[in-house]
Amino acid sequence: MRLFFVKDFLDLVFPRNCLLCGRSLYDHENNLCTICKGTLPITSYHLRPIDNDLCDKVKGLSTVGMVMAYLKFTKGGNSQKLLHQLKYRNKPQLAKELGSMYGKILSDTGFDKSWDMIVPVPLHPLKQSRRGYNQSEQFGLGLSQSLSVKLENALIRGKFTETQTQKSRLQRMDNMDEVFQISPYASISDKSILLVDDVMTTGATLCACANVLLANGAKNVDLVTIAAGG
Ligand SMILES: [Zn+2]
Repeated sequence: MRLFFVKDFLDLVFPRNCLLCGRSLYDHENNLCTICKGTLPITSYHLRPIDNDLCDKVKGLSTVGMVMAYLKFTKGGNSQKLLHQLKYRNKPQLAKELGSMYGKILSDTGFDKSWDMIVPVPLHPLKQSRRGYNQSEQFGLGLSQSLSVKLENALIRGKFTETQTQKSRLQRMDNMDEVFQISPYASISDKSILLVDDVMTTGATLCACANVLLANGAKNVDLVTIAAGG
């Protein structure tokens, strides 16, 4: 009985099953099994970073440079399952591993000297304390490791504005400009910044953050997310 208890505890602290297919992991595997890792829906945005459908999405909202996403988002698909694990299943280490894997791809594509700083989109402080971590920051830490670029929490998030979801896209943009601010400890002046988030849907949040960075002296801002829909 007691042994079961210890094992349950260890499983809880160190889950040893693939987060996608549920198969037991080998010692050298973390979070995902080799087969699931090999079949992730990886995009080719890094091959056309300034001319793709994500760039079209943010056109007119912000003057960012490159826009890329690691995984193709499909409803019910593996990328949605992974995002769900990050948001609701307490898996910061998964976000970090995804960041590290994508960082290797970006580095191999020649982006290893592209940025001075990685900046995550901040979560609302209440949300972050409930979840215990910011999945975008964890993804950024993985990228930081693979690309050897420091991560800085240069953006902070203020108060929630009321009934944001009931407003139009443009109104929402205006609203969000006030929500994100530069941290008093950050120095972003003349820096090339890689701004990271978990998922891109309308692009409004990322553009609001990019606009705050650019308005406060950032040299240029590129966007990377874990997943994005076509
Ligand atoms: Zn698996």
